[in-house]
Amino acid sequence: MARSVNDEKICALNELQRNIAHHYQWSLNLNRTLVCGTPPKDDTLREDAHCRCKLGRWLNGRGKQYFQNHPRFNTIIEHHKEMHDLARELANSAMREEKISEKAYDAYQDAQSRLRDEIQATHKELHDEIVSTDPLTGAETRTTMQERLNERISSAKYGQIQDWLIMMDLDHFKAVNDTYGHATGDVVLTAVAATVRRQIRANDLFFRYGGEEFLLCISNVDESKMQEISDRIRKSIELTLIKATDGACLSVTASFGVFGLTPDVSVEEAINKADKALYEAKNAGRNCVRFFYDQNYLTAAAATG
Ligand code: GH3
Ligand code: MG
Ligand code: MG
Repeated sequence: MARSVNDEKICALNELQRNIAHHYQWSLNLNRTLVCGTPPKDDTLREDAHCRCKLGRWLNGRGKQYFQNHPRFNTIIEHHKEMHDLARELANSAMREEKISEKAYDAYQDAQSRLRDEIQATHKELHDEIVSTDPLTGAETRTTMQERLNERISSAKYGQIQDWLIMMDLDHFKAVNDTYGHATGDVVLTAVAATVRRQIRANDLFFRYGGEEFLLCISNVDESKMQEISDRIRKSIELTLIKATDGACLSVTASFGVFGLTPDVSVEEAINKADKALYEAKNAGRNCVRFFYDQNYLTAAAATG
């Protein structure tokens, strides 16, 4: 089975962690050189020491593969070289049995701190990304949902609604598992999530709310556009052909409940309202979209089924 994006991230995180430990070990060895005069290790005195230590070799190899597009990658490379250049000067002084100035030592420690801060921030980001991503569908998990939705609600405006919450639930999904098996059920969830992601913009939010329930937050669109978008997502799911583990082809449908965000609702209220509209969509026969309106829930013009 192909490795998922999350597997790659977990590998990158583990390797980063191992290399943080290597680097720590390297810096302890340098301290021994500075304090005890022990000969330095790992080519510390060479001009290209930053390419020869374990962290350096990793940064130039697999680390680069994982992180070269990361905004911090170049800064880490720069801080790492800068730290090695300063360390080389200190190690050379120690080898010549010269006194190391406070200024030179502080400059090395500052470079070390900058490097450590950048690496640790990257490590934390990666860790947070992993725990906030559902490994099956790549959608965000509930870990970050509350906070991310809160941000959208607090930036929502009174007047014309521009931000929308969609509660989406696959129709008769239990029957898919019962007919084709749980493994095919998982393939369906992955395929549906990929289809949905193709229909939304990078700025929109996409969470796996529960088993076969997903929550989306679509921003910067008015109501008629939202009717169009939700129906477009619905149709794209219906048209997605999925291969079952036994080779058979199948497709699924989903029902949608939509609620327009206003600044006065809580995340919980917003989810409940989208869920009520979803309930209406299920009652209306499934594979359709229903909007929740404050007075009572009206059927949206774009709703089908
Ligand atoms: P409805 O149209 O009313 O939503 O019917 P449904 O069958 O989709 O709803 P129901 O709540 O009865 O069943 C949901 C099913 O989703 C049951 C559960 O086993 C399945 N499910 C939940 N999470 C997963 C998962 O991660 N993988 C697979 N394969 N199935 C899952
Ligand atoms: Mg369902
Ligand atoms: Mg459900």
